Amino acid sequence: MEATGGCLCGAIRYRVTGAPEATSLCHCFSCRRSTGGPSLAWAIFAEDKVEITSGQLAIHRSSPGVERGFCGQCGTSLTYARANRPGLFDVTTASLDDPEAFPPTKEIWLEERLSWEAANPALPQFAQFSTAATEPES
Ligand SMILES: [Zn+2]
Ligand SMILES: [Zn+2]
Repeated sequence: MEATGGCLCGAIRYRVTGAPEATSLCHCFSCRRSTGGPSLAWAIFAEDKVEITSGQLAIHRSSPGVERGFCGQCGTSLTYARANRPGLFDVTTASLDDPEAFPPTKEIWLEERLSWEAANPALPQFAQFSTAATEPES
């Protein structure tokens, strides 16, 4: 399986290969503030399964060891990497060309959820991250 994605202006394009290691919908403060949206969906891939095919990510270090990649021209949030979670590289699900193909399978950081942002009762829910191994964190 192969899928492509990119930012709003088209300067950055990327390709992912194979199935994600995990998918999630994150309600944490950092995801919210970094995008301006009430929550953020992630598709988490092995680092070598994600390739930037055009353009170059701009990086914001939102916490020690955390790098959030975005388009420096249009601002679209695109990627997440964490030093203490090596080998994984996340892409924002909604920046994929077909986000419907990568639905979140759990919701994380519910303790920081906005009261007016409904949680999906059909998904497993976690107060913080569900496993230290995979999810983004603040
Ligand atoms: Zn852009
Ligand atoms: Zn988050």
